Amino acid sequence: MTSLDSPPYAYEAPTSADLYARGRRVTPGGVNSPVRAFQAVGGTPRFMVSGSGPYLTDADGRRYVDLVASWGPLILGHAHPAVVEAVTAAARRGLTFGAPTEGELELAEEIIDRMPPVQRVRLVNSGTEAVLSAVRLARGVTGRPLLVKFAGCYHGHVDALLASAGSGVATLGLPDTPGVTTGAAADTVVLPYNDVAAVEAVFAERGAQIAAVISEAAVGNMGVVPPLDGFNAELRRITAQHGALLVLDEVMTGFRVSRSGWYGVDPVDADLFTFGKVMGGGLPAAAFGGRADLMDHLAPAGPVYQAGTLSGNPVAVAAGLATLRACTDEVYARCDQVAGILRGAASAALFSAGVPHRVQQAGSMFSVFFVPDGRQVRDYDDARSQDAARYTAFFHAMLARGVYLPPSAFESWFVSAALDDAAVERVLDALPAAARAAAAVEPAAAPPAEDPAEAST
Ligand code: PLP
Repeated sequence: MTSLDSPPYAYEAPTSADLYARGRRVTPGGVNSPVRAFQAVGGTPRFMVSGSGPYLTDADGRRYVDLVASWGPLILGHAHPAVVEAVTAAARRGLTFGAPTEGELELAEEIIDRMPPVQRVRLVNSGTEAVLSAVRLARGVTGRPLLVKFAGCYHGHVDALLASAGSGVATLGLPDTPGVTTGAAADTVVLPYNDVAAVEAVFAERGAQIAAVISEAAVGNMGVVPPLDGFNAELRRITAQHGALLVLDEVMTGFRVSRSGWYGVDPVDADLFTFGKVMGGGLPAAAFGGRADLMDHLAPAGPVYQAGTLSGNPVAVAAGLATLRACTDEVYARCDQVAGILRGAASAALFSAGVPHRVQQAGSMFSVFFVPDGRQVRDYDDARSQDAARYTAFFHAMLARGVYLPPSAFESWFVSAALDDAAVERVLDALPAAARAAAAVEPAAAPPAEDPAEAST
């Protein structure tokens, strides 16, 4: 192993190290969203100063091929000219009006055009807000209290959904973080992902009290774990049978893994969908939507209150609209092609280095699990059985060679259509040494205790 692959990793980013120290004096942990602090992998988080196409440049002037894409939004790469132009033009016309604009309608129409089950859209500012609003609507419409979620699914930092404890059997949720009351978590039932029998069982027992089942359309927040064939359809069947709603969270997958999202791969008509990331084009915009008869329960059409000073902000809307309009079939084809090349190359490098692993995908989203026997990862328990120390070594070896991967083994890698052949080549060149760095780590005795809620953006 070369010195590039040995801790302490901070040696190569002195300016970032200084900024990180300064950051810790003014903001908790030095960052504004936990996983950015590199706690899961150690070392110094890179402070970024610019992004262009497939590359990020940090405060030390180092350039990285970006496989995080701001955790998903940047499907076109950094500072795409059409998006920058649209944002600049919108900003010149005014930053916010607190009144409706035509652009909001155009963005809603674009979403509806791409997502057949969605008839009405409400714009919000973050995926978290989209989810909490959809959950309130589901409870408001059904008049029922309980939510069913799956362990390992992250839906933003919504109190009721930060409960992820329990697996194997239906478990009454316990709060995962101080500040979430037992009361807020008690109305959440957490089940193992991909386990239809567990869903059947909880509905048999408490079906009349369940307002909604919420699931990531395909999971990206414990690493990438797609639903088993028919799982989302079973959720649809069971919820419909019991008069509960199905909420599919497409914040991560929406408009990324196909023109619509996971819906384009596995078309299950949920009652409500949540969106974010790509549809905001890199600015804070998100949405939830669904059938008109449900959405029209929202104020001012109906009694369920939901609002926002900056909701539908014209600059964010311009970024989202420009992004979606530029997301042509060619963009999705390039993302699929690049993801395929990277998945194959990562797996080949790890295989040559003798590192047990499994690469899983949901469309162009993918991640590498360092599972001991390379077996399929179907749920959170499987995901947690991976050897995260191997990912740490792999991550730092890639970083040292100019490739920016998610700083946690429990996150998806995100490609962009801006990844040209030169950028892809740089990743391919880095992989063999990273695989050897992972091979040099002693196999772990015990699984890591990391929680996906903490490991999320
Ligand atoms: N839902 C899913 C599936 C997500 O992946 C995320 C964020 O990563 C959210 C919701 C929350 O979105 P935001 O971070 O914009 O609040």
